[in-house]
Amino acid sequence: MLIAYTEQQQLFIPYQHSRQALQQYRQQQQFFCPQCQQPVQLKIGRLMIPHFAHMANQSCDQRFAEGESKLHLQGKIQLFEWLKTCGHTVELEPFLTKLSQRPDLLLQTEHFPLAIEYQCSPITHETWHVRTEGYKRNNMQVLWLFQTPQNNYPSNAIQKIRIAPILQNAITKTTNKVPYLITYDAQVARFNYWTNLLHVHGHTFIAKVLTIPLHKQQMPFFEPRLITLKAFNTYWQIYKKLCQQYVYQRLLHSKKGVQDPFLRSCYELNLSLNALPHFIGIPVRNAKAIPIFSIEWQAILLNYCRKLQLRPCELDKRNIRLFLTLLNLEATKLRVQAVENYGKLLGHSFQHPNHNMVICEEIYRHLYNQ
Ligand SMILES: [Zn+2]
Repeated sequence: MLIAYTEQQQLFIPYQHSRQALQQYRQQQQFFCPQCQQPVQLKIGRLMIPHFAHMANQSCDQRFAEGESKLHLQGKIQLFEWLKTCGHTVELEPFLTKLSQRPDLLLQTEHFPLAIEYQCSPITHETWHVRTEGYKRNNMQVLWLFQTPQNNYPSNAIQKIRIAPILQNAITKTTNKVPYLITYDAQVARFNYWTNLLHVHGHTFIAKVLTIPLHKQQMPFFEPRLITLKAFNTYWQIYKKLCQQYVYQRLLHSKKGVQDPFLRSCYELNLSLNALPHFIGIPVRNAKAIPIFSIEWQAILLNYCRKLQLRPCELDKRNIRLFLTLLNLEATKLRVQAVENYGKLLGHSFQHPNHNMVICEEIYRHLYNQ
């Protein structure tokens, strides 16, 4: 932890003092944990940022947070100093008695206090949930800023990315409802934006990657712009490539053979797996709710429609619920909507069943209401 109280109940932030001054303070002062009030040690190592630590035998919830990495301490300090420079009212590691929680930073905004959690170490979904709910119950907003994962995604490019499940909790939406994710990299003092996220399957997304150095950021953070139709065409090409790779993998690994509902559907529809039509395997709104890749459930759906002698846009809710049950899926509202959306989209594009550019444009309009 970066702060403690002195005997005079003054808040003390060691990184703001020189090493020499700190060595003197350490001889003259005792410091106390803001949470459990027990005396804590001031650590002035050569490698680490000066900080406080409990003694081994003390019991305090805060001890769980100790052994914080240098990166975490660095990030907190960078964000704290930046927010102060921008003229915001911000506290470092305040202990919120009512919640028994201690955010990294607490920012006073016009409407509500905003807790900022800069998360560098792995965290369970459970802990994330408990802390998030704690803030919400107390009428506070929370901003989870995860450390940018180490990867080689080049900036300014549209590409396939993988987002770990815990980071997906921090995905947010622009005012026109386009999902994006901001992370922070304390090593280079830079925000990383994965903008215009398009879910493919599992933890795979397509995104346009952007970065903003800390000193160019603003609070509230910059919102990314919606990609253009031209840029979306690149998304569409990557999406189709991933569809092809997926089909290839399915063929290689399918043990069920003709019993496999996806492969059987393609066979019964008389479709060649090497050249599935473009309108099978398209991203639609709410498709993330269906835990099966679009190319798979859409092929099975088209075969289901063939048997019913209906077009996908003619399916009613009962048909759709039955279809989801056949896939061993609970027929939730979002899943039903995803299937309906597919029907609607095909209803539009069927006049030009396999014209790639037309489908791409229809999908763009459908996804972004443009
Ligand atoms: Zn303590």
